[in-house]
Amino acid sequence: MRKPYMRIPYTDILASPTIIPQTATTISGAIAALQEFFGATSAKSSPSTVVLTGAGISVASGLADYRGPNGTYRVNKTYRPIYYSEFLQNHEARKRYWARSFLGWTTLLKGKPNAGHYAVKHLGDLGLVRSVITQNVDSFHPKAHPQLPTIELHGYLRSCVCTSCHEELPRDTFQHELARLNPAWAVFLQEILASGALDTENPDERRARGLKTNPDGDVDLPDAPYTTFRYPACPRCLTSPPAIADGSPAKVEVDTDGAWMPTSTAGILKPAVTMFGENIRVPIKAAAEQAIENAGSLLVLGTSLATYSAWRLAKRAKDRGIPIAIVNLGGVRGEETFFADLDPSQKGSQGARIELSTDELLPALVEQLRQSSNIKVAAEGHGHSPEQHGASVFKDMMS
Ligand SMILES: [Zn+2]
Repeated sequence: MRKPYMRIPYTDILASPTIIPQTATTISGAIAALQEFFGATSAKSSPSTVVLTGAGISVASGLADYRGPNGTYRVNKTYRPIYYSEFLQNHEARKRYWARSFLGWTTLLKGKPNAGHYAVKHLGDLGLVRSVITQNVDSFHPKAHPQLPTIELHGYLRSCVCTSCHEELPRDTFQHELARLNPAWAVFLQEILASGALDTENPDERRARGLKTNPDGDVDLPDAPYTTFRYPACPRCLTSPPAIADGSPAKVEVDTDGAWMPTSTAGILKPAVTMFGENIRVPIKAAAEQAIENAGSLLVLGTSLATYSAWRLAKRAKDRGIPIAIVNLGGVRGEETFFADLDPSQKGSQGARIELSTDELLPALVEQLRQSSNIKVAAEGHGHSPEQHGASVFKDMMS
C-alpha cells in the first residue's frame, strides 16, 4: 500500500543551485533555456507540461515565502506552525490560531495574483501548459486562470471546513462571526491595521510599530488575551448534530452568543487547508499523481520542494524520465536527483535549473514565445505592480 502524503515542515535553508544550462543565469539566457524546454515537448498535438508551484510565486503579491531572502524561516527564527493534531485536540491552540488568523485575514484579502500567475495563464493560452498543481493556499492560481485547471494540493484559505460533517463555510462569513464574538479584538485589528504593524513578519519591526510580541512571536494583548478569544461552531452540526460511533448524536454546545464550547464533542471548524501533520485528501493526492502520470514535462516554479508531498511528485516525474525545469530563488531539496544525469551540452530540452524571480522571468518568456509563435493574447496582469509592502501576513495564515 502506498503511504499517504503527510504535510511536514522542513525548515533548513538549502544550498545554492548549479544553474543549468550555464547560460541560464540571465533573463535572456533563461528564456532561451525554457524555449528549448517547451520546444522539446510542444511537438505533440495537445499541451503536455504540468506546472508545480509554491510560495515563491506569490512573493510578488506581498506574501512571504519560507526560505527566500525575506522568507519566514529567515526573518522569524521562532516561527512554528500549528500541527493538525494540536488544532484538533486543543481548544486553547484553536483560540490562538483563530486569533492570529483573524488578524491576518484582512491583509491576505488585499493580495492579488501577480505577473507570474498571469504568465502561467498565458502559457496555457499558448497551448503549452495543461494544468497546474500548487502548494499555495492563497487561491491566486484559480483567480488568475479559471480556465486552466488547478489542483490545490494543500487546500485553500477561502473556506473553513467542519472536522465533523465536512461542510464548508466561506472564510469571509467566518471572519464576520469572529469579529462579532470578539469585539475587543475587532477594535484592536482596526488599530494595528492603521499602524502598519501587520505589514511585516519581522518581530522587531512589529514592535517598532507598536505591536507587542513575546519571544515566541505571539501577539501580547493585555486587554484581549488569546484565552478569551471565541470562535463559532459549525452551523450545520449545531442544528443537526452528527452521530458518534455508537449512533447517538454528538454534543454541539455554544454559549449565549453562539461561540463553540469545550463541552462539545463535534462541530469544530478548521481552515480548508492541509495543516502540517495532516494527510492530503485522497482525491486531491490521486488527481495530482494522475496529472504527473499524464505530463510530458514538469515546470517547477517558486518552490524548494521541501514539503515531501511536492517533492514526491517531482521525483515521480523524474522517475518517468520526463524533462524537468525548476525556477526558484534558492536551493531545492535533493536537486542533484533531478539534474545529475543530463547531457552537459543540452540547452534546456532535457531540463533546466534557473534562479530568477518568476514574476520577472515568466512574463518575458511569454512575450518571447508570443513573438516567435505570432500568437496574440490579451495582456492581463500587466499594470498589477507587485506589492512590495503592505500585504505580508502571518505565516500561520498561509500554513
Ligand atoms: Zn459540521
